[in-house]
Amino acid sequence: MSRQTQAIIHADALLHNFKALAALAPSSQSMAVVKADAYGHGAVNVARILQHVSSRFAVAIIEEAIALRDAGISAPIVVLEGAHQAKECQMAFQHNCILVMHCEEQLTWLESCPEQQRPHIWLKVDSGMHRLGFALSDIEGITAKYNHLLSEQTVIATHFACADDVDNNFTNTQIDAFNQVASKLDLPTSVANSPATVNWPASRNAWNRLGVGVYGGAVSTSQNLDIEIYPAMTLRSSVLAVRTIPAGEGIGYGQTWVASKPSKIATVGIGYADGYPRHCKNGTPVMIRGKRAYLAGRVSMDMITIDVTHIDNVAVGDEVELWGQNVPIQEVAANADTIDYELMTRVSQRVPRIVKYL
Ligand SMILES: *Cc1c(COP(=O)(O)O)cnc(C)c1O
Repeated sequence: MSRQTQAIIHADALLHNFKALAALAPSSQSMAVVKADAYGHGAVNVARILQHVSSRFAVAIIEEAIALRDAGISAPIVVLEGAHQAKECQMAFQHNCILVMHCEEQLTWLESCPEQQRPHIWLKVDSGMHRLGFALSDIEGITAKYNHLLSEQTVIATHFACADDVDNNFTNTQIDAFNQVASKLDLPTSVANSPATVNWPASRNAWNRLGVGVYGGAVSTSQNLDIEIYPAMTLRSSVLAVRTIPAGEGIGYGQTWVASKPSKIATVGIGYADGYPRHCKNGTPVMIRGKRAYLAGRVSMDMITIDVTHIDNVAVGDEVELWGQNVPIQEVAANADTIDYELMTRVSQRVPRIVKYL
């Protein structure tokens, strides 16, 4: 039998999460962000599942959009980083993509595109994250100078630095700064990512761009949310071997875990080459036979070892959940000093994605 290491993708959770997030903003339109292979869930899988509820999709780069076109996805696709070189303007037109332009050079590339082959564009404004976008003080001048490149589809967009943090007033600062300028432009706006859609009602406007929340990731530092979202991925593997070791023996590379008493150790077929983080500490939880067990020893490339001394009848072939319904991905991420976004996006190509429809 082949290795039982799989990422189960729950279609019902994706649909529920998208609809629940979109329902928070009934006067907005919502699009699912499927960049980075849909945060590791499989962009084609996710686009197929969501195409009847998400009238557009967003990706980071045009190659990601073309991969969706090759798979037959027809909804317009917003390319969040815009063009990286002039020829991407024509590619965007051919593939019905909307480029989010953040600098003047990109607009000159668009100008050099034959007039009948120019894609629709959005304009990105830097309202305080200081990563990409036209300065707030420049955007009025830019829209006047490049008015001939704008269309009925053009939207003014910005992005938040701290929208998950309900105690951080910087999101209000960004909203206020953005609105002050946007109100002069007479163009629709797009501001909210999924954390903002949940936490900052004032950020919901023409288009909300829903990413991590669709996948069941953490969207808020607040404990009492109006919506429930569910994990869209279960990462699972199985037990390859079980052994009992005496007190005093170390396990794995570097012997970072040493048995304090006779211990039963299960070896599980997943490692950092599959995207299970090497930085996970001893004690990171997994689920086996309905109980929590804990990482014991360093994560290897293809295997991990877990302490199952307290669990009866553990046997070769037993299923192990690394994250999902029973082990929150956020908890694993915290044990690796990172965030759920990184864990999701790093599940490697070696792990088959199995879509489960319910
Ligand atoms: C990734 C991204 C999003 C989605 O953000 P989430 O926090 O995952 O909801 C929205 N807008 C832009 C510009 C992005 O890059």
